[in-house]
Amino acid sequence: MSIPIYVDEDRRIEVMELPSECGICHKNIYPKYLTGTCVSGSLEQGTNMELVFKCTNKDCRSLIVGYYNNKNTENGD
Ligand SMILES: [Zn+2]
Repeated sequence: MSIPIYVDEDRRIEVMELPSECGICHKNIYPKYLTGTCVSGSLEQGTNMELVFKCTNKDCRSLIVGYYNNKNTENGD
């Protein structure tokens, strides 16, 4: 099951999975998506996406950066 999210304000992509564990507190969390960007500017040619999430553990609240490429995203358009 893919999860639709928006990067670069209005570009809809779908990712196959979200981070399930925070790298700081090591709790299993459902991350809150904050923002993301398409690093190389194109969804073709091995695009790298960087997606920023926030840990939902109230004692942590760390940011989590997920790195994706077009092998685990789909262009939702
Ligand atoms: Zn955390």
